[in-house]
Amino acid sequence: MKDMKTKPRLLIIEDEEAILQGLADVFVYNGYEVETAVEGISGLEMALQGGYHLILLDIMLPGLDGFSICNKIREADRHLPIIMLTAKTSEEDIIEGLQLGADDYVPKPFSVRELVARVAAVLRRSGKLHTDMQAFSLGDLVIHPERLSGTRNGKEILFTRRELEILVYLSSHGTRPVSRQELLREVWGYANVDYLETRTVDIHVAKLRRKIEKDSSQPQLLVTVRGEGYQLKVQG
Ligand code: CA
Repeated sequence: MKDMKTKPRLLIIEDEEAILQGLADVFVYNGYEVETAVEGISGLEMALQGGYHLILLDIMLPGLDGFSICNKIREADRHLPIIMLTAKTSEEDIIEGLQLGADDYVPKPFSVRELVARVAAVLRRSGKLHTDMQAFSLGDLVIHPERLSGTRNGKEILFTRRELEILVYLSSHGTRPVSRQELLREVWGYANVDYLETRTVDIHVAKLRRKIEKDSSQPQLLVTVRGEGYQLKVQG
């Protein structure tokens, strides 16, 4: 993992100069080292050259849009945290960003304080996964948090950071079902939860089931407890 004792390095890819400058100022003020790109292709190049702790990524960009950038970054680096700045709060945009492996999204217009808090939360959790977690078993599946992966019968399953955080959180709660609101509060770090956000939990759970269940339409490991939430069911 990258050294977090030095200033965290942020890359902001955003074509609206006023927003970009405002964000850069705020994060510099909050102790970050900030670099910026106003266009997609150069933004992607910078992101791939590495050395950043987190990318703030706009969606509508000249050159290459944020979804494509997110996708390319994920092909090269599954660990680098990405927060998308979505101009529209359309559910489709948010779902697409999350499917491509963004760690979080912040709808515009955003509260700068909220954004600074989200960035800090994502960085805190990404550091934690690397340092705190031991491998653990879910049935015949062995989870390796630090590698963002699991193995079953010698086959490797790759997780996004958020997927893995959900597994870790659920597994630490044993047989108690965990509500979507609690997951959003504890895993996402959201203070206030609305309908759109609870949908993002369902999207992640659906993705997780496709990865860990033998038949994702008949979940045996990550089950829904009606009216209560989600639970990991591990026999043994
Ligand atoms: Ca834009």
